[in-house]
Amino acid sequence: MLIGHGWDLHQHSDSKTLILGGVSFEEYGFEGHSDGDILLHALCDALLGATGKKDLGHYFPSDASTPKDIPSTKILSEILLVIEYEKFTLINVDITIITQKFNVQEKEKKIKENLSKQLGIPLEKINIKGKSSDDYGIIGDQKASLAIVSLLLDNA
Ligand SMILES: [Zn+2]
Repeated sequence: MLIGHGWDLHQHSDSKTLILGGVSFEEYGFEGHSDGDILLHALCDALLGATGKKDLGHYFPSDASTPKDIPSTKILSEILLVIEYEKFTLINVDITIITQKFNVQEKEKKIKENLSKQLGIPLEKINIKGKSSDDYGIIGDQKASLAIVSLLLDNA
């Protein structure tokens, strides 16, 4: 068994559309060189961590070598190839989104469905929780939001 952990924080944007867990929502999202999908970036780092690879920035640096506005679903597909995902069984994924900018609960179902498809695992293996920062700091001020992902891979 291999445990993986990843997190990602992006600044909120007043122009870019919210993309979270590979799903597009009709509200403002995040600044970033890519689409700013904090959930998928944290997930990629958790997968890379569990399999002993380098961090996401090594494979997709935030500069001209990574295509501008690249969809993070494409980044995740590439990372699944990097870690040779087909050799593992993903036991479960536990996701926490810390935000005071948008409602996590009302997005949870769509995101789970998309992740279930992209990762090839049943819906019930994916958990998504929303949290606030108690009105404190950059998250409480709605300037940024944070995603934290833990997962377990079986390499048997
Ligand atoms: Zn990111």
